[in-house]
Amino acid sequence: MKVLLLSGTGEARELAALLVADGIEVVSSLAGRTTDARQPAGQVRVGGFGGSDGLASWLQSNPVDAVVDATHPFAGQITANAALATTRTATPYVVLRRPGWTPEDAAGPRDTSGPQGPARLVGTSVDWHWVDTTAAAAELLPRIGSRVFLTIGRQGLDAFATTGLWTLARCVDPPSPPPTWCELLLARGPFSDADELELLEHHRIDVLVTKNSGGPATAPKLRAARHLHVPVIMIRRPPLPDGLTVVSTPAEALAWLRAAGLTG
Ligand code: NAP
Repeated sequence: MKVLLLSGTGEARELAALLVADGIEVVSSLAGRTTDARQPAGQVRVGGFGGSDGLASWLQSNPVDAVVDATHPFAGQITANAALATTRTATPYVVLRRPGWTPEDAAGPRDTSGPQGPARLVGTSVDWHWVDTTAAAAELLPRIGSRVFLTIGRQGLDAFATTGLWTLARCVDPPSPPPTWCELLLARGPFSDADELELLEHHRIDVLVTKNSGGPATAPKLRAARHLHVPVIMIRRPPLPDGLTVVSTPAEALAWLRAAGLTG
């Protein structure tokens, strides 16, 4: 059994480890844009395929039993390409997407003694402004705050270059060319609640801009923002193509492969 795993997330690495442990041959595909040293288990290939046609040709030359797309929720192009290429080559295809954030992810400590029983979330009210694109976030920004914490990655930073607002941009890898209009902080999560709180306070941040990536590793900034009453501009995920099978966790992806009779 052989699986092509479109990779680039922590969930993809987790699934690669599960598949290898199950004796499944897995080829993880990375775009090759980041300097992430954490290599997935199994075989790895690096670089684009050349659009949906290129991916379809790759699948014809390297037949696999299934394609699992565990790319980032904002990596819309590779998912669109994979949906087309797997249809064209009749290759079973499943998308693994971690759930997006909800206000509960920004909630404070849990109150286990309240009248509604254990684990009642305390104060989930948040000041989130939802937008569809980075351009819409940049347009809205001056009406929301003036000291900005921008956590949208390297791609799309330029949309904020002309806001004229003091901005701290946090990225994993350095943008090229380096932006001259903002302060740059290079750091890779996970981040702690305490560190995020200290960062927002230290820089007197009064608005946070983020993509709805989801996941626990980068959620502490949402809790810090809520704690300090800092509003959040939340960029929605691009929509998935219609009709795809979507699962939320690596274990569910493995179960899907098993149910499809693709693994032992
Ligand atoms: P994208 O816009 O959807 O993809 C652009 C092109 O990059 C694709 O058309 C494809 O080139 C190539 N590509 C993307 N993912 C690939 C993969 N796993 N294997 C082989 N080629 C891939 O994606 P992106 O936003 O540039 O993200 C690139 C990678 O970084 C993804 O794997 C994603 O999971 C990861 N990532 C993205 C974000 C984000 O916010 N966008 C954040 C964290 C990690 P061809 O058309 O030539 O095949």
